Amino acid sequence: MSWSTDDRRLGMDRAISRRDFLNGAAVLGAAAALPLIGRPVFAQASPYPPALTGLRGQTDADFAVMHSIRDGTFWDTAGAPTATGEHYDLIVVGAGLSGLTAAHLYRHQKPGARVLVLDNTDDFGGHAVRNEFTAGNGRLVIGYGGSESLQTPSFFTPAVNQVLADIGVDVEALGRCYDQAWAEDRGLGEGVFTTREAFGADALAVYGDDDAEWIAKTSLSDKAKADLLALYEAPTDPFDGKTREEKFAALADLPYAAFLTDTLGLDPQLVEFFDNWTKPYFGAGVRAVSCLDARVVECPGFDAMDLGDDVWPTMSPSGRLVAKGPDP
Ligand SMILES: Cc1cc2nc3c(=O)[nH]c(=O)nc-3n(C[C@H](O)[C@H](O)[C@H](O)COP(=O)(O)OP(=O)(O)OC[C@H]3O[C@@H](n4cnc5c(N)ncnc54)[C@H](O)[C@@H]3O)c2cc1C
Repeated sequence: MSWSTDDRRLGMDRAISRRDFLNGAAVLGAAAALPLIGRPVFAQASPYPPALTGLRGQTDADFAVMHSIRDGTFWDTAGAPTATGEHYDLIVVGAGLSGLTAAHLYRHQKPGARVLVLDNTDDFGGHAVRNEFTAGNGRLVIGYGGSESLQTPSFFTPAVNQVLADIGVDVEALGRCYDQAWAEDRGLGEGVFTTREAFGADALAVYGDDDAEWIAKTSLSDKAKADLLALYEAPTDPFDGKTREEKFAALADLPYAAFLTDTLGLDPQLVEFFDNWTKPYFGAGVRAVSCLDARVVECPGFDAMDLGDDVWPTMSPSGRLVAKGPDP
């Protein structure tokens, strides 16, 4: 292969894993970060990363690099850094949304600037990477590798909206293209599955208007069922007499699990019952999530406390977003 002067200036004649160009900014994946982290170079044509499956990026080989730094053995095998002769106006380490945005904004301010974005994984996007695979029926499925969607675009700042417009992301299209009535149109509802491992028997209870009816179908103990029904149908206010501000302060410091058992004196089975309710959004179970945050993902028990609809500074930012998020 013959290399042009420009190619050589970019280092295209050297053995690197891959070098992608995003509107003029070079993005190097995997071993291309060699001068920074000292990994072995492999010089093959890389397959298209989103179509790869399995653990990518944070592999044993990646951990071994950091372990050798920890153990003080890194420079025993890393070899001496060599000058590549490349010159950049900006080098960004990390090709996630933050790094790509930094590179984009820099070039916006200085058109024609030479920007190098380094990433230790094989694709750009960081946690917001995309996956795709061909299903058994031959259909191509494209999905998210990490982040699922744009979080509350109505709250985006003008600066964020400007970047999205610059790179051609049509946020409004999401509202049009995502079939928000998909489940409803098919008569699908929600329910809860209590497992044999946690509750002694497998049971599926589909939610309905009558709480007593669906609670009876769970495999909770009779005491836990009665406590759960009371939590929905006859909530109390354990902070009666306190101001709303004092209640918010108390609830911000109180994990939902402790609220159920210590504050309300309910059956401990309910901690296991609700443990998965906070995980999808907050990434943690009810022993680690405060009552204020648990409340916004519909954990019950707060209806008698006169808390109002306002968000509160002691809620987590994610809790405030979901409580007030205007986007469907
Ligand atoms: C489970 C989960 C779900 C989420 N869901 C959503 C959602 O639905 N909507 C939403 O808006 N947000 C969501 N977020 C948040 C969103 O994913 C992140 O805020 C965003 O992707 C972070 O981008 P970043 O560029 O700051 O970091 P990252 O995406 O983590 O990018 C950092 C990049 O730097 C690389 N890197 C690190 N160290 C080095 C090094 N030494 N050399 C070279 N490269 C390096 C990493 O490999 C990575 O590619 C979610 C987050 C999580 C954890």
